[in-house]
Amino acid sequence: MRVRRASGDAPGTAVTFRGRGLATRTGGRLLLLVCPHCSQRNGRRGTERGVCEWCAYEPSPDDIELVGETAQQA
Ligand SMILES: [Zn+2]
Repeated sequence: MRVRRASGDAPGTAVTFRGRGLATRTGGRLLLLVCPHCSQRNGRRGTERGVCEWCAYEPSPDDIELVGETAQQA
């Protein structure tokens, strides 16, 4: 298993969904922080479930993009 550091010692990897919303991927789990559909900051329960508490949107894994993927460091 490869570990890729996107942002130093961050506990998880910050990701967006095609450039929208914000989530953290950590240990195979996806914590949805900001919904890419309605742009609301997610509630705690929704964050852990990976589903927006406001509009019930569940982001597709296919839409995940790593934040800072273009700014790789050696
Ligand atoms: Zn939403």
